[in-house]
Amino acid sequence: MAMVRFEDIVEEILRYNPEADIDLLRRAYIFSGKEHRGQVRLSGEPYLSHPLAVAKILAETRLDVISVAVGLLHDVIEDTLTTREEVESYFGADITNIVAGVTKISKIPFTSQEEIQAENLRKMILAMVDDIRVILVKIADRLHNMRTLHFHMPKQQERIARETLDIYVPLVYRLGMGKIKSELEYLAFCHLYPESYQSLKNKIEKERKVSQSFIKKITRILETNMRKNKIFAKVEGRVKHLYSIYQKMLRQKISLDEVYDYIAFRVITNYNVADCYAALGIIHNLWSPIPERFKDYIAMPKPNKYQSLHTSVISKDGNVFEIQIRTKEMHKISEEGIAAHWKYKEKKSTPTAEDQEFLWLRQMVEWQQEVKDPREFMHSLKVDLYQDEVYTFTPKGMVKSFPRGATVIDFAYSIHTELGHQCVGARINGKLIPLKTTLKNGDIVEIITSPGHGPSRDWLTFVQTSRARSKIKQWLNRKERERSIELGKKLLEKELKRYHHSLKKLLSKGEIREVASQLGHPQENDLFSALGFGNLSPRQVLSRLLPPEELEKKEAPKPLHPPLIRRRLVEKKVRVKGHDDLLTYFARCCNPIPGESIVGYITRNRGISIHSADCPNLMNLLYDTARVIEVEWELDKDYSCPVEVSIYLEDRPGMLAKITSAIATLKTNIKNITQKELEGKKALVHLLLEVKDINHLRKIVSSLRSIKGVIEVKRVLRQTLAAS
Ligand code: MN
Repeated sequence: MAMVRFEDIVEEILRYNPEADIDLLRRAYIFSGKEHRGQVRLSGEPYLSHPLAVAKILAETRLDVISVAVGLLHDVIEDTLTTREEVESYFGADITNIVAGVTKISKIPFTSQEEIQAENLRKMILAMVDDIRVILVKIADRLHNMRTLHFHMPKQQERIARETLDIYVPLVYRLGMGKIKSELEYLAFCHLYPESYQSLKNKIEKERKVSQSFIKKITRILETNMRKNKIFAKVEGRVKHLYSIYQKMLRQKISLDEVYDYIAFRVITNYNVADCYAALGIIHNLWSPIPERFKDYIAMPKPNKYQSLHTSVISKDGNVFEIQIRTKEMHKISEEGIAAHWKYKEKKSTPTAEDQEFLWLRQMVEWQQEVKDPREFMHSLKVDLYQDEVYTFTPKGMVKSFPRGATVIDFAYSIHTELGHQCVGARINGKLIPLKTTLKNGDIVEIITSPGHGPSRDWLTFVQTSRARSKIKQWLNRKERERSIELGKKLLEKELKRYHHSLKKLLSKGEIREVASQLGHPQENDLFSALGFGNLSPRQVLSRLLPPEELEKKEAPKPLHPPLIRRRLVEKKVRVKGHDDLLTYFARCCNPIPGESIVGYITRNRGISIHSADCPNLMNLLYDTARVIEVEWELDKDYSCPVEVSIYLEDRPGMLAKITSAIATLKTNIKNITQKELEGKKALVHLLLEVKDINHLRKIVSSLRSIKGVIEVKRVLRQTLAAS
């Protein structure tokens, strides 16, 4: 590669910015040349060749003069004796800040590879928020370094190529710079996986003749038909990028012979969007489309602003190929991304709140402050950076995009933190679905909430976005802390009582605070929390609160009885099939018994009411079938529930004794019993029983029925209209 000359850069920049401040560029060029004098690159070329090449890339990206000047100066602080102050005195604050930003990103010593990467990414993201040009210069710098990577030692080649794939490619993708992304991927691919690269390249080379004639044939058909229909468009045919073919092979675990659609076409219309859809119609008329492969990124642009129609079709001889249809303007954006919107004329360099394309950036900054573990940060960033796989809608028609595999919970958190916390269920396209359900393109998602409800820990096992993950963790940590504070307080209070001291008094006198700070806890609550978590024993606290003489009076307490720490409630529970976290309660009208067949009904605000399947009220509710949901029992072993039973019988002596003994034989508790005499020597006995489940109740009822003189036995269902 011939060395870039300064004149090449000037020529390039004047093409799109005739009023560019060439004098500034010349000064930067001279300054950089002087500072790097005598330095040599691994290629043997003078060092200046590198800043020149970087500046050229920036000019080709049509950035402003400042960016191009920074390209020339980007290594002077890092690699020469020049100071920041010196650069500032020559070039002013703007340029110096960007140069310093670029320098900062390159210098982070860390121990593990993953930490380096995560930290690098954090810094880059923060730098981007300061001035997006920092990252654009850094990308150009990396691109040139990748182009000259073969001069490095193999080990370094691998490290730099890996970092490029892991950090730069996702960022460049997110910034929508398609052209640079492809080149970076290509360069990283051939250095990281030289064998795969070679064999793939050879295979494609072997097919070259066939491919070329196929491309020619299809291109001609496309051109002819566009012209015939008066659509002015440019048609391009090509073998897809090697790295994207390779990724597809890996993803689908297939060989190149099985990658049938490695040839792709583009139809780039001159002007309007309507032409794109018209072209699509023509194409689908020529060849059969594969339905699930059609994607309308024009109606639903990717978060990086990419727009295009994608369709895959089958030719008559069975060849599958992809066609992308877009306008010239869309094409430009797909190649240049952020550089295309971020015009060189614009003065502002810092993204403002209104800039939709920078929203993700702001969110990332917000999240990266919450995530502590670099590996987790890295993981979620990668997911978020590629976040454009699934497009869904809110009930109001707002588009929300998610990484593949995202769930309803991710959706809820993407709208609002509280919506996520209080999510108890959801409907997709009007149908109730489990919270774990993964989102699909075009889904309309409606979140069902219940005030006061909180996230459950197992949500963490299936959420995909870093936002949802960090919000759930925050909530859980907060709850855990609250509980530990409360428990810690109780433990300390109990221990103090043994010595006839009151926690309240000690708190008001500030003595607890004093001890807390002695033990390294900034606040009283931190001390309680440590006690609650068991990191500190009440005894340790007491030894600082009370004089030793007083402590000796009583021996150390016995270990706490577990029930004080956690009392498990025995309760009647149901589980909604597939929804572990839905809030449920029993309808008062029928108060179903375990084992009985039950039905859930989604109420407006109170979660799911559980009715017995025979509940008379349920019939009234069933008209809204969308709100009925399947539920099943989940019981504690030693559970029992109250059931009312009425017995209509002949009023003879000894009847009550017979009834109670029949019930006692079945090991059943009678909680209450009343008797009412009726006309004609009949009576009505009313029982309140403790019953295990429906089978238990059935046995009781049939045993009661077998008693001579019993006319009818009925379970009492309340007829109140408790529908909600
Ligand atoms: Mn550099």
